[in-house]
Amino acid sequence: MYIVMLGAPGSGKGTTAKILAKRLNLPHISTGDMFREQIKKGTELGKLADSYISKGELVPDELTINIVKDRLTWEDTKNGVILDGFPRTKAQAEALDAILQEAGKKVDIVPELIVPDQVIIDRILNRATCSNKECGAIYNTKYKPSKVPGVCDICGSKLVTRTDDNEEAIQNRLEVYRKNVQDLLDYYKEKNVLVSITPEDPTADNASEQAVDEILK
Ligand code: AMP
Repeated sequence: MYIVMLGAPGSGKGTTAKILAKRLNLPHISTGDMFREQIKKGTELGKLADSYISKGELVPDELTINIVKDRLTWEDTKNGVILDGFPRTKAQAEALDAILQEAGKKVDIVPELIVPDQVIIDRILNRATCSNKECGAIYNTKYKPSKVPGVCDICGSKLVTRTDDNEEAIQNRLEVYRKNVQDLLDYYKEKNVLVSITPEDPTADNASEQAVDEILK
């Protein structure tokens, strides 16, 4: 199953995508994570991507499409993937369709997580992510703190704050998201694959689990 997870930054999209991937035993592909990995490694691609990401701007389509296209040639993607953060523009959605079509596949379902802005801003400003890429657990210093501050409960690695998790970049990312998402919503609505998910209490501990239940219903 090929799933495209939509939702504003901080909507819980990443956590929901991870749970979905585990439940369906499919790879979780996050373009944001892929870029951050390149930035950490100090590659040319990472440096270029960082010049956009640190300002909350989108990385150009061509660059983004190419890394996804390459990732979708991996063997582990042949039964499906959970895409998180891609596509973000109509051009990316069209490119994704073309890539999948070549392999005789298609996007099966596009869940959109709908969460109020205030919850999003509060969540992002207090977000801490495990620095161990294999783990990637996400905490919230206010609502879901780790047992020992700054240390991951699961693997013991250091928790870090993303460089784009500051108020100015967040506002910009929300604006960029809104500006682009309507095109995607229209695109996928027309293809009859869009499903709107509105968590009853998006701050609840099990909000993402509930969202996944709703998606797989
Ligand atoms: P995310 O982790 O999905 O919030 O992505 C973090 C940042 O990476 C975004 O604010 C963009 O700058 C960049 N990025 C991630 N995915 C894409 C994409 N599909 N297209 C363009 N830029 C992206």
